[in-house]
Amino acid sequence: MAVSEYDLYIGGKWVKSETGKTFDSLNPATEESIGRFQEGNEADVRKAIDAAEKALPAWSDMPAPKRGLILLKIAELLRKDKERLGRLVTTEMGKVLPEGLGDVQEAIDIFEYMAGEGRRLLGHTTTSELHDKFAMTIRIPVGVMGLITPWNFPMAIPSWKMSAALICGNTMVIKPSSDTPLCVVELVKLMERAGVPPGVVNVVTGPARTAGQEIVKNKKIDGLSFTGSRDTGEWIMANVGVKKVGMELGGKNPIIVMDDADLALALDGIIWGAFGTTGQRCTACSRVLVHRAVKEKFMRMLVERAKKLRTGNGLDKTTDVGPLINKAAREKSERYVEIGRKEGAKISTGGERPAGKGFFYRPTIFDDVSPDMRIAQEEIFGPVLSVIGIKSIDEAIEIANGTEYGLSSSVYTKDVRNAFLAMKKIEAGITYINSPTIGAEVHLPFGGVKKTGFTREAGIEGIEEFSHSKTLYVDYSGHLQRAQIDVE
Ligand code: NAP
Repeated sequence: MAVSEYDLYIGGKWVKSETGKTFDSLNPATEESIGRFQEGNEADVRKAIDAAEKALPAWSDMPAPKRGLILLKIAELLRKDKERLGRLVTTEMGKVLPEGLGDVQEAIDIFEYMAGEGRRLLGHTTTSELHDKFAMTIRIPVGVMGLITPWNFPMAIPSWKMSAALICGNTMVIKPSSDTPLCVVELVKLMERAGVPPGVVNVVTGPARTAGQEIVKNKKIDGLSFTGSRDTGEWIMANVGVKKVGMELGGKNPIIVMDDADLALALDGIIWGAFGTTGQRCTACSRVLVHRAVKEKFMRMLVERAKKLRTGNGLDKTTDVGPLINKAAREKSERYVEIGRKEGAKISTGGERPAGKGFFYRPTIFDDVSPDMRIAQEEIFGPVLSVIGIKSIDEAIEIANGTEYGLSSSVYTKDVRNAFLAMKKIEAGITYINSPTIGAEVHLPFGGVKKTGFTREAGIEGIEEFSHSKTLYVDYSGHLQRAQIDVE
């Protein structure tokens, strides 16, 4: 079957890259191409930045509630197209279909939420120490934004960034992951139909080392919002120059199971948290810290359930766990399984790839893991779970905090003391009680601490990431007043 070809979107036109080269996006379940994309480079990015710069004055001048109406239209078009787009996410990224549809739903939710923020964009009023002087703040756009996104929520993460950037009055150049460019291209087609003016949103598909690095380094970009791995994040921080920067990086998220926990509930949560999206969520549970009083019983329950999980194509209704995103990702899981074995951890289930096409890997559980092992410290980003025994909530919290990451976390307990200690002391952007380490709804802030980054996206906090605060004074006293000097 002929493979469809997709162009770059610059200044409201679909155009070829300067390079004349293309690359394919593969369906990880079948290893077949689902589309051919322009291999954009530095020159393409520079053109896109020029287009975004040109579109900035009119877009930032449009009243925010009017921009909000365009965002509502985008949400409406996404809703109408949800079924097709959900299947696309499933096919391009390898999720199971309900998760593919969930990815699109999250995009709908954030566009609706940010449309409403257009009627708010809160600043604050405050007092002055001087007479007859009025003080307040307003939010102003950052300017031309660069957005660089990963593949694991191929519609939701670009939507989080684009919706907030748009409502705040920014224009932008987005470079999607080379593993999932089609989702962003389809999203931008809907934006075009919804009436986003030419040049406001520009898409350059292409490699990290050319298109990506130009977005990071180009001095005409005023703000950069990045979601991806810690290593890339560190490279960006060293090369980005003076820009407003957002960083959403990896995780090594723990679920604590106390001896008083509802074990059946914890089991459901851990299976979903660890093996949903094939363990390829930044919030995926990759460490279970289980109380030694219930560990043996809980391990039996966990292993029995994990063995029953069916790997397969996400479009198939009987599939529980889809493929990994690509060959390299599966090899990374395999490498870590080997490391875990050598470190002395015991494989309770999994540790192998099924035969046949597709980048599949069996859900894998390591028992007898100690907290300092590499499999308990480093982000694997696959269906590989480490189980560690603990004796108290204090020990569990210490181990939970003993990695360089801090994104999501959870404790299963019926004891209010355990719950409150965990909520207060776990170093993370999110702590759940009696739910797995999933993300958050769109009206709540999402992000991490430590090497996971320092950004909050979504919610009111998401507005702060894509705008500056400006202070305004009106002095109606009619004479010079000097703050800090005229103190009497
Ligand atoms: P990645 O390899 O860091 O790539 C992310 C994006 O950055 C891709 O578009 C990639 O382009 C681009 N890129 C890579 N190196 C670059 C460079 N030097 N300059 C500019 N752009 C560069 O991450 P990934 O494998 O796509 O995503 C998985 C990671 O994302 C995991 O670590 C996961 O935890 C993290 N993540 C974090 C969150 C969060 O909110 N905290 C959410 C989701 C995922 P190419 O695709 O062309 O290489």
